Amino acid sequence: PASLAGKTVLITAAAQGIGRASALACLAAGADVVATDIQTSGLESLMDEAPPSTRLRTARLDVRDTDAINALAAALPPLHGLFNCAGFVHHGSVLDCDEAAWDFSMDLNVKSMLRTLRAFLPGMLAESQRTGAGASVLNMASMASSVKGFPLRFAYGATKAAVIGLTKSIAADYVRQGLRCNALCPGTVDTPSLRGRIAAAPDPAQAEKDFIARQPMGRLATVADIAPLVVFLLSDASRFITGQAVSVDGGVTI
Ligand code: NAD
Repeated sequence: PASLAGKTVLITAAAQGIGRASALACLAAGADVVATDIQTSGLESLMDEAPPSTRLRTARLDVRDTDAINALAAALPPLHGLFNCAGFVHHGSVLDCDEAAWDFSMDLNVKSMLRTLRAFLPGMLAESQRTGAGASVLNMASMASSVKGFPLRFAYGATKAAVIGLTKSIAADYVRQGLRCNALCPGTVDTPSLRGRIAAAPDPAQAEKDFIARQPMGRLATVADIAPLVVFLLSDASRFITGQAVSVDGGVTI
């Protein structure tokens, strides 16, 4: 398995779902993990769940708050890995999406990455130059993006397509400086927010069936299907991979 020994990795939206599972997987791979989220109760329970021998620190961090991101970057040692996981699913078509909803999704799903990249990249590049070891950024996109269109994912698909474009641009700019940047494109993953979307549907049982029906393998992904790929892409085991939108979608895009 890929090792993250000696590396410090920061993860956004790490209190639940994919971010949380990724934090635990990075700890198991030997990383020093900085798990951040706005949901402090989730960070506390993550701290309880992390094995005592592992090196976890948690911090409340709103990815919409530039000053808080800059302050955290100033307080931390340089990172070797950054996983921008925070994101929100707007449910609806273009006619369901007013300017406020669009701005919220773009801010949380895309501009958040501008903020963390501007705050953490200088330290990552300097550290990579100093040690000769690579640095890796992983940005959360989705199969619902430039990869594939889905009904009622207008704002969401647009933001995740932007994440893929942003990722390729970062990869191109820093490919000679030891910094890699990739995007992750999961299929439908069973997480608390997916359960919330199912519960909010007019017919929740049917909504769950519909989510499963769009997965050719006949089941939803679990976070355990995704976290090992996060570790791999943050680790030096993926040292020849950059600028890629990596799909882990159970065959949706076959
Ligand atoms: P989730 O949606 O269940 O949890 C999201 C977490 O983000 C929560 O802990 C929440 O507190 C945190 N968060 C919300 N606003 C925040 C903010 N402003 N600053 C910091 N943290 C904030 O988790 P999930 O379903 O695993 O989704 C994580 C990411 O994966 C998202 O970017 C999502 O779009 C993406 N994704 C999810 C799926 C899926 O099916 N679940 C599929 C593809 C991509």
